[in-house]
Amino acid sequence: MEVGEPRKYIYSDVELDQHEGQEIAELMASSQQPLPDPDRWLDEDIHRNIMLTTVDAVIGWARSSSLWPAICFPACCAFELIAANASRFDLSRFGMEILRASPRQADLMITAGTLTWKMAPQVRRIYHQMAEPKWVIAMGACGISGGIFRSSYNVVPGYNRIMPVDVYVPGCPPRPEALIYGIRMLHRKIAQAHTDIKLQPM
Ligand code: SF4
Repeated sequence: MEVGEPRKYIYSDVELDQHEGQEIAELMASSQQPLPDPDRWLDEDIHRNIMLTTVDAVIGWARSSSLWPAICFPACCAFELIAANASRFDLSRFGMEILRASPRQADLMITAGTLTWKMAPQVRRIYHQMAEPKWVIAMGACGISGGIFRSSYNVVPGYNRIMPVDVYVPGCPPRPEALIYGIRMLHRKIAQAHTDIKLQPM
């Protein structure tokens, strides 16, 4: 087309309107159903096996499902803890049947018994040697407050005097069901915790 040559229109305005109307009518006729989700290209098998979640939820689930208690049983509550570990109550259900002799491989202390001031430095050392993150369950009246020995000159009036306690399980001694209830409370607490993950710069 040369410069200055007048533009030629093939269709009149009426014909353009008719053409546009016909195009719209065809689009309406072919658009009666919603378009399928773009994810339809995924196999149904993949659809059923994808789970969306958060890093916090995954880490909380993993931590709460694999608590390993340190061996630290100073007095008589220990027998109920042992019963909770045995076949009838079966702590293995919660992935925590492995009692660790090394505190470096443990992340939970269940304070099953009366603590004397003479033993306190050793128990606190065990706590400090445990891996982070770590949790403490004060089991029994003695673990919570010193129990019936609270007024004794040589008894620690509660483990929370020497270490932070997450869950308190009352009783003298608490039955295995009560201990398991406390463990389940700790599971919920761990699962709801926020994980402060710091990514290393590349
Ligand atoms: S709470 Fe009762 S059973 Fe447990 S250590 Fe104290 S005295 Fe013993």
